[in-house]
Amino acid sequence: MEHYLDNSATTPILDCVLKKMNEIYTENYGNPSSLHEKGYLAQKVIEESKKTILSTLTPSGSSFTSNQLIFTSCGTEASNLAILGFAGSKARNAGKKFIFGETEHASVINCAKHLESLGYKVAFIPSPKGKLDMERYASELTQDTVFVSAMLVNNETGAVNNINEIASMARAANPDVIIHCDLVQGYMKFPKSLFSSADMLTISAHKIGGPKGVGALYVSGKVLKLRALSPVMFGGGQENGFRSGTENVAGIAGFAEAVKYYSDHSSKITGLFEELNRQTRTMLGQIGDERIVINTPESEIRADHIINVTVRGIRSETMLHFLSSKQVYVSSGSACASNTNSRSHVLKSFGLEDKDIDSSIRISFGVQNTKEDVDALVSGIQEGLATLSSRRK
Ligand code: PLP
Repeated sequence: MEHYLDNSATTPILDCVLKKMNEIYTENYGNPSSLHEKGYLAQKVIEESKKTILSTLTPSGSSFTSNQLIFTSCGTEASNLAILGFAGSKARNAGKKFIFGETEHASVINCAKHLESLGYKVAFIPSPKGKLDMERYASELTQDTVFVSAMLVNNETGAVNNINEIASMARAANPDVIIHCDLVQGYMKFPKSLFSSADMLTISAHKIGGPKGVGALYVSGKVLKLRALSPVMFGGGQENGFRSGTENVAGIAGFAEAVKYYSDHSSKITGLFEELNRQTRTMLGQIGDERIVINTPESEIRADHIINVTVRGIRSETMLHFLSSKQVYVSSGSACASNTNSRSHVLKSFGLEDKDIDSSIRISFGVQNTKEDVDALVSGIQEGLATLSSRRK
């Protein structure tokens, strides 16, 4: 039996999503830009999906317009659009300052480095224990700070940033500053009051049981009014001119279906993640081996679906492959960092020593997980500790 515990890398697609996408592929296959009935119906799917998703992002009771959501090919593209689209926008940002958290996802960090290479003023803020260093942040904020990007939930550690505090500090320095938040790992898992002050939000379908290859960028009315976003992809002018290219209609409908599923089961999902987190921490503690260190802090506001653990003395890849042989699937750092074979920048900023980074694994839960998955994980780690460390002697 499979025990998939790598849901922050991607989640298995939900049955209701697959059903919806199949319906669109077979019946509603028109191009939304076509002027006939099939095009109209496809466009209607997009508009309805936007309403569903926008209602989960905008402050309760507030109105929104459909041009506040821009569908993209993934979360990475949405953050590229937010950052590079802002830098190149009418707001004339050359010479102004951009601030980023040091533990942001590669899709944000690498945009920031690109801006730096173009001559923009860019500051990176460290995140010891996973949270933005607020003193350092305050010292970097200046009147010419025009853009701040901070993620809600870190994908490697599950640490949660206080976006509203980050936003209000930035606005005290410059009221026109634009706040971007990478919400990918927090979307549909936290109340919107925790990120309601952001001007732009990045989301991705495949982290919540939707299909891979669909993301979106939410932009506030202020962003539109200030004309603070320009496209980075040019063509037929779809998505109100912000993102050209024929829309992935089935994927978009699947994304909205996944959002509905999470909305309808919200308290059950929160309870499940809380329970799996508690159970994992307790059972790992019961092994009573001091080589097991849980890195994710147990703060009041935390992402229960992600736990980062170091198993001292056993390299991450060795443990990962051992667990994989038992059909227990976890990751070492983030899936993206493991591609590049470099030591995780997140865990470095977090404050872990190199040898602990090299032995860390990330466990992440999804809605399909059960107590049996945690049992299999914990006995796998226990067995791994016994076999792998004795093999090294
Ligand atoms: N941001 C965070 C925090 C992520 O964890 C990920 C994916 O792992 C992304 C952005 C990128 O999303 P996508 O895979 O849709 O490009």
